[in-house]
Amino acid sequence: MSFDSVALEEFRREVSLFLDEEITPIIKEAGRKITSMFSPFDEALAFQKLLHKKKGWAGVSWPLEYGGTGWGVEQQVIFHEACRERELPFLLPNALQMVGPAIMRFGSDQQKQRFLPEILRGDAYWTQGYSEPGAGSDLVSLQCRAVRDGDDYIINGSKIWTTLAHRSNRMFMLVKTDVECKPQRGITFLLLDRTDFPGMEVRPIIGLDGCPEQCEVFFDNVRVPVSSRLGEENEGWSVAKYLLEHERGGSAGTGTLILKALEHIKSMAATLGDGFGGSLYDDGAFQARLAALYLEAKSVSAVEEKMFSLDMGGAESGPFSSLVKVVWTECLQRVCTFSVDVCGSLVLPLQLEALEVGSDVEAIGDPAMLIVMPRYLNNQACSIYGGSNEIQRQIIAKAVLSGLTLSRSKNPIGHAASPFSEDQMQLLNDSMDRFFADNYDFDFRQKTVKSELGYSQDHWRQYAEFGWLGIPFDESLDGFGGSLLDTLYLANTFGDVLALEPYLSAVVLAGGVIASGSNELIKSRVIPEIISGEAIAALAYEEKLSRGNPCYLGTTASEVADGFHLRGEKVTVLNAQQARYLVVSARTAGAIDDRNGVSLFLVDLHETPLPIVAYSMVDGHRAANIVFDVVVAKENVIAGGREGFSLLNKALNDGILYSAAESLSAIKTLLTDTVSYTTERKQFGMPLASFQTLNHKMADMFISYQQLDSLYEQTVNMYTQTGSVSSEQISLLKAQLGVSGRFVGEAAIHLHGGMGMTDELRVGHYFKRLVVNNAVFGNTDFHYKRLWREVDAVA
Ligand SMILES: Cc1cc2nc3c(=O)[nH]c(=O)nc-3n(C[C@H](O)[C@H](O)[C@H](O)COP(=O)(O)OP(=O)(O)OC[C@H]3O[C@@H](n4cnc5c(N)ncnc54)[C@H](O)[C@@H]3O)c2cc1C
Repeated sequence: MSFDSVALEEFRREVSLFLDEEITPIIKEAGRKITSMFSPFDEALAFQKLLHKKKGWAGVSWPLEYGGTGWGVEQQVIFHEACRERELPFLLPNALQMVGPAIMRFGSDQQKQRFLPEILRGDAYWTQGYSEPGAGSDLVSLQCRAVRDGDDYIINGSKIWTTLAHRSNRMFMLVKTDVECKPQRGITFLLLDRTDFPGMEVRPIIGLDGCPEQCEVFFDNVRVPVSSRLGEENEGWSVAKYLLEHERGGSAGTGTLILKALEHIKSMAATLGDGFGGSLYDDGAFQARLAALYLEAKSVSAVEEKMFSLDMGGAESGPFSSLVKVVWTECLQRVCTFSVDVCGSLVLPLQLEALEVGSDVEAIGDPAMLIVMPRYLNNQACSIYGGSNEIQRQIIAKAVLSGLTLSRSKNPIGHAASPFSEDQMQLLNDSMDRFFADNYDFDFRQKTVKSELGYSQDHWRQYAEFGWLGIPFDESLDGFGGSLLDTLYLANTFGDVLALEPYLSAVVLAGGVIASGSNELIKSRVIPEIISGEAIAALAYEEKLSRGNPCYLGTTASEVADGFHLRGEKVTVLNAQQARYLVVSARTAGAIDDRNGVSLFLVDLHETPLPIVAYSMVDGHRAANIVFDVVVAKENVIAGGREGFSLLNKALNDGILYSAAESLSAIKTLLTDTVSYTTERKQFGMPLASFQTLNHKMADMFISYQQLDSLYEQTVNMYTQTGSVSSEQISLLKAQLGVSGRFVGEAAIHLHGGMGMTDELRVGHYFKRLVVNNAVFGNTDFHYKRLWREVDAVA
């Protein structure tokens, strides 16, 4: 463990200890009774005051100079997650997360001194006056006027949907100060230090759940000093946009909040029936739906993590905060719908009194179900507030059409365990880029697909000469002493051009199994041959009934006098017909799906020819089905007992990570090709890209791509820090690879119209590569099942 991770663990303990010991029962009850994105007001403020007074922790994301915690990203994530895990109230966002950062960025010294300390203390609560009856999505068309009169502005007009205005003592608002200029100009941002100015009236609105949360606010000749202005007159739109980024980007911990909601659903399902005599919890349809939402919730956390790494106010953070908003709000809405479906008619009673914090009115039925319906009703608002999700998709589409791809799916240059210095890695990566740009155009690729061999032997020889085939292998075997992480750039580059060479099979899978095993003789014989390009190896593990599960083994190996008799059939053995060596899994003990008793054997096809049914897969890559009925000598046992499964599992996990790196590049190409095509192709006299429905489709493609990229980045970080990845993380990545690959691929074909269906255009080929990458190593449905098992195990 590095010093940093030790310090973080210590911090985690400190946060947990404080929250467990200091939080009062009433604050905890408020946390359990949250029914919208705003926690019960009094208790949320009480929580903030407690944090501030006892620890100075109210300004979670604030810098030290303004009285904040000064915490880095990891500490903020730990804090938010600890709060969500304990179901504590959210800190009310308008002051701490929205206007606070805007004052820090645009405020005068006087404004900072006046407003920031009282925000932290919880003495001031700010309501947001942006929307108006005639200006919702089209916010810049707002009409509320402020006219200068000496040292004052006089405000006339009204605001609507101002959340918690009836409980607030401050208000930030947008007013029109110049009606002659362009709509974005002529807007001014004001900070009102009262909500009871003469002429100002606040009227609560009753919401869908029967309670008041939003308000209307009317201004009739309300006089406020000019010193209330934040930023310059008529320049308030820049302030407003900066603040919206903070509103939309949310905070770390929304993913954890949604995961908590899923746990809640799981525990309710355990008490309910499926209507046919079984438990709802054991119902396959329930489990599949929960696993799919579990993946979605995890991807919310992943995109939130990525959001943290961007510079707020930069070119990327605006559209990415819109993306985060779409991802978490829609996931939360789906989870709320799921919870209503799980509970059926049991959540129909209207229970306003029992829902009040501190109430002694007993809940009708199961108290755990009290919040289900009001949460479902209130969270319909998630896709509306903060700018509706249509508007967010419009913002994302605009950025994507201007060329934003925001890809960080490169290998971690100079990661701690790498034998390469940053400069060496950069040189290596540059040489790969150059080689593929010069030698792998689409025509060459298509000719190679049709060749007998199915890949370029010349290229393979050159990969060997460049040393690429030896990157992850030990120096004692003529390798570079790197790891899988050092091959991911090559995987990205393979994905850029849909390269056909069997790197995944030979180096990552079969080579990975052999190199990690303890049979030194096999290692010293085969690995140098792989590194020099002399021999190709392939991994034969998948079977007709296994669906990618490496433990499920119908192939058996029984001990005979001169070795082991292998009997069974393997399917979709990638690159088998191009290989000299096969690494074959077979059961030597245990039940058909037991992880013990998985043994691995080396078969030299030059010595032991096998009946191979060789074929081209739909994407042009080669694979084969192989029937085994052969005796393998004892010295060709690579591993048995527990070692067999662990070697196979690690190689497959590595293969999935490698395949995700490759797929990300293919997805990016599909997205950029679709952007170019829809920008150039005209119908109805205008480019396809000018139609909103297609914009939104492209925004969704970008979102899906970023969900995969964020989970990929998270997985690579985990690998970098610990040297391995959990099977849950791998299943998340693989399931998302299937979801994103399929969605982006199908959408790209669709948006190309008839042209998308042709062999001539490259989109179809990238799509087919993703179809293959989804199907191998267990498809999305298989990994949902594995995820359910992980989730079930922590029940
Ligand atoms: C619970 C809640 C809390 C809120 N809190 C606040 C607050 O504190 N302060 C504040 O200022 N505002 C607040 N709002 C207001 C919120 O920002 C607006 O409701 C939102 O911007 C949408 O505006 P609208 O309601 O006028 O809908 P409209 O703009 O009339 O939109 C109606 C529908 O049409 C769609 N639509 C509109 N224009 C387009 C377009 N060009 N293309 C495609 N679809 C379009 C929208 O997506 C929506 O589905 C809140 C809203 C809610 C529901």
